[in-house]
Amino acid sequence: MTNIIISGAKEGNLKDISLEIPRNKLVVFTGLSGSGKSTLAVDVIFQECQRQYLEAIGLQGINKPKINFIRNLSPAVLITQNESNRNPRSTVGTLTDIYTDLRMVYEKLGVRVCPNCSKVISDSECKEEVEKLNGDFKVYMI
Ligand SMILES: [Zn+2]
Repeated sequence: MTNIIISGAKEGNLKDISLEIPRNKLVVFTGLSGSGKSTLAVDVIFQECQRQYLEAIGLQGINKPKINFIRNLSPAVLITQNESNRNPRSTVGTLTDIYTDLRMVYEKLGVRVCPNCSKVISDSECKEEVEKLNGDFKVYMI
Protein backbone atom coordinates (compact mmCIF):
# COMPACT_ATOMS: atom_id res chain seq x y z
CA MET A 1 0.00 0.00 0.00
CA THR A 2 1.34 3.43 -0.88
CA ASN A 3 1.31 6.31 1.57
CA ILE A 4 0.56 9.95 0.95
CA ILE A 5 4.00 11.56 1.15
CA ILE A 6 4.26 15.21 2.11
CA SER A 7 7.63 16.93 1.94
CA GLY A 8 8.51 20.39 3.22
CA ALA A 9 5.10 21.83 4.10
CA LYS A 10 5.51 25.51 4.98
CA GLU A 11 1.90 26.70 4.57
CA GLY A 12 0.63 28.99 7.36
CA ASN A 13 2.54 28.29 10.58
CA LEU A 14 3.84 24.89 9.45
CA LYS A 15 7.59 24.78 9.87
CA ASP A 16 8.92 22.67 7.01
CA ILE A 17 6.90 19.57 8.00
CA SER A 18 7.49 16.25 6.21
CA LEU A 19 5.36 13.18 6.92
CA GLU A 20 3.72 10.07 5.44
CA ILE A 21 0.03 9.30 5.90
CA PRO A 22 -1.34 5.80 5.22
CA ARG A 23 -4.01 5.60 2.52
CA ASN A 24 -7.34 3.79 3.03
CA LYS A 25 -7.13 4.20 6.79
CA LEU A 26 -8.93 6.44 9.27
CA VAL A 27 -6.30 9.01 10.24
CA VAL A 28 -6.77 11.55 13.04
CA PHE A 29 -4.66 14.67 13.56
CA THR A 30 -4.45 15.72 17.21
CA GLY A 31 -2.53 18.51 18.86
CA LEU A 32 -2.73 21.87 20.55
CA SER A 33 -4.99 24.58 19.20
CA GLY A 34 -3.08 26.55 16.60
CA SER A 35 -0.53 23.82 15.96
CA GLY A 36 -1.51 23.53 12.31
CA LYS A 37 -3.83 20.48 12.17
CA SER A 38 -6.40 22.23 9.99
CA THR A 39 -3.73 23.94 7.93
CA LEU A 40 -2.17 20.57 7.12
CA ALA A 41 -5.50 18.82 6.42
CA VAL A 42 -7.34 21.60 4.57
CA ASP A 43 -4.84 24.13 3.25
CA VAL A 44 -2.17 21.60 2.23
CA ILE A 45 -3.66 18.16 1.56
CA PHE A 46 -7.19 19.03 0.46
CA GLN A 47 -6.11 22.08 -1.54
CA GLU A 48 -3.48 20.05 -3.39
CA CYS A 49 -6.03 17.26 -4.04
CA GLN A 50 -8.36 19.86 -5.57
CA ARG A 51 -5.58 21.50 -7.55
CA GLN A 52 -4.35 18.20 -9.03
CA TYR A 53 -7.90 17.04 -9.79
CA LEU A 54 -8.87 20.29 -11.52
CA GLU A 55 -5.61 20.33 -13.47
CA ALA A 56 -6.26 16.75 -14.63
CA ILE A 57 -9.58 17.84 -16.17
CA GLY A 58 -8.01 20.91 -17.76
CA LEU A 59 -8.96 23.57 -15.21
CA GLN A 60 -6.54 25.81 -13.38
CA GLY A 61 -6.75 28.53 -10.77
CA ILE A 62 -5.98 26.99 -7.39
CA ASN A 63 -2.59 27.99 -6.03
CA LYS A 64 -0.15 25.27 -5.08
CA PRO A 65 0.32 25.15 -1.30
CA LYS A 66 3.77 26.01 0.06
CA ILE A 67 5.36 22.54 -0.12
CA ASN A 68 8.26 20.80 -1.78
CA PHE A 69 5.96 18.03 -3.02
CA ILE A 70 3.02 15.75 -2.19
CA ARG A 71 2.70 12.29 -3.76
CA ASN A 72 -0.07 9.70 -4.07
CA LEU A 73 -3.13 11.94 -3.66
CA SER A 74 -6.60 11.18 -4.97
CA PRO A 75 -9.60 13.46 -5.57
CA ALA A 76 -10.97 14.30 -2.12
CA VAL A 77 -14.16 15.46 -0.45
CA LEU A 78 -13.93 17.97 2.41
CA ILE A 79 -16.68 17.93 5.02
CA THR A 80 -16.90 20.65 7.64
CA GLN A 81 -19.13 21.20 10.64
CA ASN A 82 -22.12 23.46 10.13
CA GLU A 83 -22.42 25.06 13.58
CA SER A 84 -25.82 26.64 12.90
CA ASN A 85 -27.51 23.27 12.32
CA ARG A 86 -27.40 21.74 15.83
CA ASN A 87 -30.14 19.19 16.33
CA PRO A 88 -30.16 16.09 18.55
CA ARG A 89 -31.17 14.00 15.55
CA SER A 90 -28.28 15.24 13.41
CA THR A 91 -25.95 12.68 11.93
CA VAL A 92 -22.52 13.14 10.40
CA GLY A 93 -24.34 13.17 7.07
CA THR A 94 -26.86 15.89 7.90
CA LEU A 95 -24.49 17.99 10.03
CA THR A 96 -21.95 18.20 7.22
CA ASP A 97 -24.46 18.42 4.35
CA ILE A 98 -22.80 15.43 2.68
CA TYR A 99 -26.03 13.46 3.05
CA THR A 100 -27.61 15.24 0.07
CA ASP A 101 -24.55 14.66 -2.13
CA LEU A 102 -24.33 10.97 -1.20
CA ARG A 103 -28.05 10.50 -1.83
CA MET A 104 -27.59 11.87 -5.36
CA VAL A 105 -24.58 9.61 -5.99
CA TYR A 106 -26.46 6.50 -4.84
CA GLU A 107 -29.55 7.53 -6.80
CA LYS A 108 -27.55 7.89 -10.03
CA LEU A 109 -25.13 4.99 -9.62
CA GLY A 110 -27.11 2.59 -7.45
CA VAL A 111 -28.67 -0.60 -8.79
CA ARG A 112 -31.84 -1.93 -7.17
CA VAL A 113 -32.53 -5.64 -7.23
CA CYS A 114 -35.69 -7.54 -6.37
CA PRO A 115 -35.36 -9.05 -2.86
CA ASN A 116 -37.22 -12.17 -4.03
CA CYS A 117 -35.68 -13.08 -7.39
CA SER A 118 -32.56 -10.81 -7.49
CA LYS A 119 -33.59 -9.41 -10.88
CA VAL A 120 -32.42 -5.83 -11.51
CA ILE A 121 -35.32 -3.38 -11.18
CA SER A 122 -35.52 -0.75 -13.92
CA ASP A 123 -37.46 2.43 -13.16
CA SER A 124 -38.71 2.72 -16.71
CA GLU A 125 -40.36 -0.67 -16.83
CA CYS A 126 -42.12 -0.88 -13.49
CA LYS A 127 -45.12 0.74 -11.85
CA GLU A 128 -45.63 1.51 -8.20
CA GLU A 129 -48.69 0.38 -6.27
CA VAL A 130 -49.54 1.69 -2.80
CA GLU A 131 -51.35 -0.44 -0.25
CA LYS A 132 -52.63 0.73 3.15
CA LEU A 133 -52.34 -1.80 5.96
CA ASN A 134 -53.26 -0.89 9.57
CA GLY A 135 -52.54 2.79 8.93
CA ASP A 136 -49.15 2.09 7.31
CA PHE A 137 -48.59 2.62 3.63
CA LYS A 138 -46.54 0.09 1.69
CA VAL A 139 -45.25 0.82 -1.77
CA TYR A 140 -44.84 -2.09 -4.15
CA MET A 141 -43.08 -2.06 -7.48
CA ILE A 142 -44.92 -4.31 -9.93
ZN1 LIG B 1 -38.58 -10.45 -8.36
